[in-house]
Amino acid sequence: MSDPVYRGRFAPSPTGLLHAGSLSTAVGSYLEARARGGQWLLRVEDLDPPREVPGAADAILRTLDAFGFEWDGAVEYQSRRHALYRDALQQLIASGAAYACACTRKEIAAAARRGLDGYVYPGTCRNGCPAGREGKAWRLRVNDEAIVAADRLQGDYRQNLAEDIGDFVLLRADGFWAYQLAVVVDDAEQGITDIVRGADLLVSTPRQIQVQRSLGVGTPSYCHLPVLVNAAGEKLSKQTLAPAIEAGDAVVQLRQALARLGHPPPADCLSLADIWSWARANWSLARVPRGPVS
Ligand SMILES: [Zn+2]
Repeated sequence: MSDPVYRGRFAPSPTGLLHAGSLSTAVGSYLEARARGGQWLLRVEDLDPPREVPGAADAILRTLDAFGFEWDGAVEYQSRRHALYRDALQQLIASGAAYACACTRKEIAAAARRGLDGYVYPGTCRNGCPAGREGKAWRLRVNDEAIVAADRLQGDYRQNLAEDIGDFVLLRADGFWAYQLAVVVDDAEQGITDIVRGADLLVSTPRQIQVQRSLGVGTPSYCHLPVLVNAAGEKLSKQTLAPAIEAGDAVVQLRQALARLGHPPPADCLSLADIWSWARANWSLARVPRGPVS
């Protein structure tokens, strides 16, 4: 089956090297794109230089290449796309959807209750910053209504942004772009139709749908793959000291990644080429567990 309009992507952050969890996400998004006859793009999400590890972006690309991933087109870097984010913010300011916020973290913590992902912004600057204060951050106005993300693996995921999240940041007071704005601008500008990524990002999907609606761009199809957890039940990440994967170990690692996604390759698939060939022929989202998996 060929679906000429499918455009997927994998978008690693160079805050660390590829680990077993991010490899599984790459494998799932790649195979879904290829199974649908689609394209698969790479985008390096290097929005937050203080948290980045020098050389990590190149190391991730080298590892993907060594594993046999084949991506379409040139790799994009968010660090080179700030003008697009600036244009989008200007559009949101002009339409009244975005407003400046002068609040410090401390002030928000003192005034706010906790929501689904940190504090729910209490709306202090919604109608203008307090007298004598200049807003350096920009927030998006959210509505008191349900937003439903229809996820192909996780089912309907529902949030009321006003209750669960609050007006959220698009441009941080320190001058860095927020992920929620950049990812929506990039997916729209690159014509991404299908987002397959880790389930840790499900919680931020309604915010991205709100940004899409405020910018007047379409909402792609979403599929959130199971997150990989360690023996303590914690998501594998740089923070939980997940070990970096080694390209020298690629056959074993790729077999394990596929097994975690419900696709254990047959014992006689012993080369990368054999494993990929089997995986492309046998990939089915219906076999992928909702997770989490260990
Ligand atoms: Zn504020």
